[in-house]
Amino acid sequence: MALIDGHGRKHDYLRISITDRCNLRCVYCMSEEGVEQTCHSSILSYEEILNVVSAGAELGISKIRITGGEPLVRKNVVELIKGLAAIPGINDLAMTTNGILLPRFAAELKEAGLDRVNISLDTLQTELFREITRCGELKYALEGIEAALENDLHPVKLNTVLMKGINDGEVLDFIRLVREKPLHVRFIEYMPIGDHDQAYKDHYLPLSFIEDTAQKAGLPLSPVPLLGGAGPAESYTIPDGLGTIGLIHPISKHFCDTCNRLRLTSEGNLKACLYWQDEKPVQPVLDDKQALQELIKEVLSNKPVEHQMAADGKCGIVKSGSMRRMSQTGG
Ligand code: SAM
Ligand code: SF4
Repeated sequence: MALIDGHGRKHDYLRISITDRCNLRCVYCMSEEGVEQTCHSSILSYEEILNVVSAGAELGISKIRITGGEPLVRKNVVELIKGLAAIPGINDLAMTTNGILLPRFAAELKEAGLDRVNISLDTLQTELFREITRCGELKYALEGIEAALENDLHPVKLNTVLMKGINDGEVLDFIRLVREKPLHVRFIEYMPIGDHDQAYKDHYLPLSFIEDTAQKAGLPLSPVPLLGGAGPAESYTIPDGLGTIGLIHPISKHFCDTCNRLRLTSEGNLKACLYWQDEKPVQPVLDDKQALQELIKEVLSNKPVEHQMAADGKCGIVKSGSMRRMSQTGG
């Protein structure tokens, strides 16, 4: 069975936000006060999430990513991972996390069946980390990365949002990091999600900046085949590097033509595209697998051919009236 949308794209990947809460307040993702939190009773229970994934797996979903908000702040997340790992057909189980709580959870997550993690890290400087996250300690994020490496949550990828005037001076530091450690740094273009138009205009930089900076420093990036579970990143090695550099250009070279993703928000809305407001609640059909499968197909059949984010900051999600931030949809 395969899930094919109206534009011929096969879909096998579901990204699930399990909470919109977070222990950090990254400037590009949340306001200082955080988001208005969804109350516990209106977020999907783990049992409900497992129902959706079981129905999707029968249709051809084989890859799951747990995200948020910060997924490790939700209680008993290890139990959810165990349940997901036991669903027939799920053969790639990943999580995106800020890493702060990984020293506590990495071993249990691995044992429960988590294959790998992406850890967000935008700077290697203590003070700047505090400014970007508004409250975080770099030391804990770095300990989280070590815990992921020690517990074999490979490939350990770091998500780094490139921001003009904020961390664009650290490109070579990240390149040196992957020279020394088996880490895969993926630079991501700043996206105008939620009410971020002005910040986006001030800080967006196309990722050609990374290639130019590496080239000028005598560390040219050489293309390599994609890593396990690789999505839209273009991957590169550097001379003598243990890890790799990835470039994800959602704006300057968008990858909509190969998109294979569906998304489930924490309050149970199924979305076919991060940047459009269209979504359907799964709650009314949670106890009826066939109806759930029909809903998944319906959402997919309405998937747009591409998102509407443009490099000038104009963004479909704003035009279409949805101001959800990344923490609310699940990045
Ligand atoms: N809390 C987890 C974390 O930070 O990894 C998971 C959720 S977070 C919303 C997922 C990813 O979205 C992070 O890597 C973050 O850097 C990215 N993100 C959030 N807002 C973004 C924006 N405006 N542009 C680009 N990436 C963004
Ligand atoms: Fe929290 Fe992740 Fe958003 Fe940062 S990017 S505020 S860690 S959800």
